Amino acid sequence: MHNNGTMIRTPSSSTFMAREARFGAANYRPLPVVLTRGEGAYLWDVEGKRYIDMMSAYSAVSFGHGHPRLLKVLSEQAARLALTSRAFHTDVLGTFMEALCKATGMDKVLPMNSGAEAVETAIKAARKWGHKVKRIPEGQARIIVAKGNFAGRTTTIISFSSEFQYQDGFGPLTPGFDAVPYGDARAFERAITRATAAILVEPIQGEGGIIVPPDGYLREVRALCDRHNVLMICDEVQTGLGRTGDLFAVDHDGVKPDAILLGKALGGGLLPVSAFTARAELMNVFNPGDHGSTFGGNPLAAAIATEALAVLRDEKLVERSAELGTHMMRRLKSIDHPAIRDVRGRGLLVGVDIDPAWCGGREFCERLLQGGVLTKETRESVVRLAPPLVIERQTLDDAIDLIETTLEGLQHPQRKTPAVEPLNA
Ligand SMILES: *Cc1c(COP(=O)(O)O)cnc(C)c1O
Repeated sequence: MHNNGTMIRTPSSSTFMAREARFGAANYRPLPVVLTRGEGAYLWDVEGKRYIDMMSAYSAVSFGHGHPRLLKVLSEQAARLALTSRAFHTDVLGTFMEALCKATGMDKVLPMNSGAEAVETAIKAARKWGHKVKRIPEGQARIIVAKGNFAGRTTTIISFSSEFQYQDGFGPLTPGFDAVPYGDARAFERAITRATAAILVEPIQGEGGIIVPPDGYLREVRALCDRHNVLMICDEVQTGLGRTGDLFAVDHDGVKPDAILLGKALGGGLLPVSAFTARAELMNVFNPGDHGSTFGGNPLAAAIATEALAVLRDEKLVERSAELGTHMMRRLKSIDHPAIRDVRGRGLLVGVDIDPAWCGGREFCERLLQGGVLTKETRESVVRLAPPLVIERQTLDDAIDLIETTLEGLQHPQRKTPAVEPLNA
């Protein structure tokens, strides 16, 4: 049982944490808080303390916790029909697919569950398109990705990661990927060969540290994909569905890729729902038996995702994300504190890069936790601020206030050591 020492825990929290530690794999190191309830942009721990959720389960809870419309569909559809497998048709799947095609501007949908599965689906589609349509010799199709990417944790996906830890000990890795620096379209072009089937890229790198590429980056990628007959596949698992202030982050550049991958928020914060959406020419490489998933496209998931898309539109959450995001960015940028190295992002996906000499990202998040705000660092020093899109402006301001006071409470790095009690204490 490790406790960071700064926090006093009642027995109930520590009991839950100890049980997880005893019986669970150690593949996560959660912040020391035990949550039991959520509503809108708020979460409560087992001691009854309330927190503002500035993390949204890595953007999967865009609609807030327990959205009434989504809960209603969840219980009604669960009671009627939850799971059939794709061996049969249902009266909800086609409706979901149509709604998602309308939203993305794509022709067809292949539903899966986790984001990683959507990425795996894209990789299989791109390779098969490369071999059967572009006529790359069988088994030689390659996919170009950007360094700093995050696309999930399967053995194939970690094979194109640039994070040492994601790969360390997990080989043999899947071949067929090339990685170039993010944000430089020319780097993609230089890496293209006749064996290149696709470019797979995040419009904004989320887990990579909330990295926003230069304006026009995706437009250039689109143009070079057209020039070289290469597929442009955008991983919007994190950035999609209003997170960045546009319905899709590719909309910022006014670009239509050949495929868009969705996940996270698509499940309304209730279920894992993901999708590979693509132009017909690409999706048509799949024939019966080529690919599938027992749970992919199940009626419960389809009904919730359809309702999630409707809520997004009815509650104008995309506009809300843009507006609140601009407000949050303006406030954060106006904080004049030497520990802030950078504030970046778009819409309600923002990262505050904090100088580790002042405070590590993890420690900063633990301080926020004490003050009643929940979030998690990414890439060590970047504090992620990605609240549910339904968050009230006042709640968002409360969270930003706490970030300000937390910054003010940091000790200047040169005055940090040695740790001695002040004389007048
Ligand atoms: C989270 C994420 C994934 C993987 O989604 P899982 O549901 O965790 O498998 C893929 N791509 C991006 C950009 C993500 O942020």
